Amino acid sequence: MTPKPEVIVVGCGGVGSAALMHLARAGVPVLGLDRFAAGHDHGSSHGETRIIRMSYFEHPDYVPLLQRSFELWEQLELSCGQPLYHETGLLQVGPPDGVVVPGVKRSAAEHGLAVEQLGPLDLAERFRGFQIPAGHEALFEARAGVLCVEDCVAAHLRVAVAAGADLRHEVRVESIEPCKRGVKITTDAGDFEAARAVICAGAWAGELLASLSLPLEVLRKSLFWYAGADEVYRADCGAPAFFFETEAGMFYGFPAFEAGEIKVAEHTGGTLLTDPLDLEHGVLPAEAERMETFLAGHLPAVATPHARHATCLYTKTPDEHFIVDRVPDAPQIAFAAGLSGHGFKFASALGEQLCDLTLGREGRSEAAFLSLERFH
Ligand SMILES: Cc1cc2nc3c(=O)[nH]c(=O)nc-3n(C[C@H](O)[C@H](O)[C@H](O)COP(=O)(O)OP(=O)(O)OC[C@H]3O[C@@H](n4cnc5c(N)ncnc54)[C@H](O)[C@@H]3O)c2cc1C
Repeated sequence: MTPKPEVIVVGCGGVGSAALMHLARAGVPVLGLDRFAAGHDHGSSHGETRIIRMSYFEHPDYVPLLQRSFELWEQLELSCGQPLYHETGLLQVGPPDGVVVPGVKRSAAEHGLAVEQLGPLDLAERFRGFQIPAGHEALFEARAGVLCVEDCVAAHLRVAVAAGADLRHEVRVESIEPCKRGVKITTDAGDFEAARAVICAGAWAGELLASLSLPLEVLRKSLFWYAGADEVYRADCGAPAFFFETEAGMFYGFPAFEAGEIKVAEHTGGTLLTDPLDLEHGVLPAEAERMETFLAGHLPAVATPHARHATCLYTKTPDEHFIVDRVPDAPQIAFAAGLSGHGFKFASALGEQLCDLTLGREGRSEAAFLSLERFH
């Protein structure tokens, strides 16, 4: 173990694994700590796949960070010699006066991104498996696709360790306090000190950064897989990832890859948790029913009921934008929190941003809109 790490990264999931890699590659003696075993499914970075897209309906200011994220995911693929991304394209559907369609168009217009407006003929020829409600619009972004979430985390960790990072799983951090050397981290495996720390604790960020009273809510979310996918839902037959804004809520999903299962989830809804570990892992019948109603109306060739189900956690801020900053009274501690159910695609760039913040570099100015200031 590094006897005196310069930086300690607390939480080595989606964002923490990337921060660890960027710090190690910058030549910084760095220690990564995570409370669970590698590849665990207790947090927010499991379940096989995550959508990555560029014309961001949530806010156009995310686009420069997304451009950087795409670059960094590509570089990570080269570093680890493993494919991490499938460019499936993304079909986005919703009412013209809703949130998704105007948001996608705004981001595309502001940043000159290629987004195709699809007519009924395009849909019938290219995306036969999808039904678009009357009056809704369909947009297609070719430069979008699917990240293999567990492989991405594992790749960041592997490259970090190869670059000299010390990594310890199954060490639970109990407290983080400023001290003479910088930061004292108390864990169930003893105390550690470093000059600086990066906190990427996902659903546990509120607990570990309690003094900041971060306005975070943790939600239980469900993922459903449906077997025996028809070719209209197979990635190798040209099926895209998809995101639908409907009257009932927002639903999204992934085409079937080798296993032949299509995966679908609901972006809206979820059950509020007081303890991220205290959740019902089984299927809630009402959720399965909502999903089947969505499928029947929009992807009618999917064979129900589901074959597999898993749960995962969203950690939401009130405005559903991330918080990436330094602790105001202790600037030697940087953190990312409240990724609000859409943060994985950014993990590569946020890891770089946190590395910059930690090393006292300016960081990318385009991430400034994610600062803590808006809640204080
Ligand atoms: C169902 C679902 C679908 C999603 N779909 C998408 C999508 O399509 N596209 C997208 O971009 N995003 C998506 N997201 C969101 C995205 O996955 C998350 O925003 C992202 O993975 C969060 O990363 P994180 O590093 O904040 O959290 P995590 O990856 O959960 O990492 C936090 C880590 O901190 C560790 N930790 C916590 N407390 C301690 C402690 N006290 N001591 C030591 N270690 C600790 C945990 O063990 C964990 O490993 C989805 C999320 C879910 C749940």
